[in-house]
Amino acid sequence: MSDERTMQTDIVQAILDKLKTAGNRVTTQRLNIIRVLVEAEKTSGHITAEDLISSVQNTNPEMNISTIYRNLEELERLGIIEHVHFGHTPAMYHLTSTSHFHLVCERCGDTVEVGDDISAVLIETIKEHFEFVVKPHHFAIVGYCKKCSGDSDVDDGPTIGGLI
Ligand SMILES: [Zn+2]
Ligand SMILES: [Zn+2]
Ligand SMILES: [Zn+2]
Repeated sequence: MSDERTMQTDIVQAILDKLKTAGNRVTTQRLNIIRVLVEAEKTSGHITAEDLISSVQNTNPEMNISTIYRNLEELERLGIIEHVHFGHTPAMYHLTSTSHFHLVCERCGDTVEVGDDISAVLIETIKEHFEFVVKPHHFAIVGYCKKCSGDSDVDDGPTIGGLI
C-alpha cells in the first residue's frame, strides 16, 4: 500500500522535474491536475476533461474551469499529457509517460494499449506506400475485442433460433 503511494509520488515528482527543467513554473493548480492524472493512471489510465475537472474541484473548489483547460493545454504542449478520442465519447486525457496507441472495442468499450513498437511497423508501411505520416495516438482504432468478435452471433447477425 505504502509502496504504491511512494511510486505515485515518484511519478508526480518526475513530471514536476520535467516541468522545471523546461523552465516552467509549477503552480499548485498544475500540481493538482497532475495528481489527478497520476491517480487515474491507477485505474483506467484515462480520464475525461469533465471528470478531471470535478476531481480537481473536489480539493480545489476555487479553481475555475477555464484555468483547468488552460493548464491541460499547456501540459499537452509540453508533452506531459495527450488526449485521445475513443469514438463517440468525449476526449480522454492520459499521461505520455508510457507512449502507446489505443484499440477500443465498439461493442463493450474495452480498451487495449498498444506499445509504439507495434505502431512503428504500421507507420513505416503506410509512409512507404502513400508518403503519409500516420499519428496513431490522437484517435483510437476501433474494432471488436476477442470476447466480442468471438461470440458476435449472440447479439447481432442471423442466429439459429433456440440455441441459447
Ligand atoms: Zn492511453
Ligand atoms: Zn468487446
Ligand atoms: Zn483531439
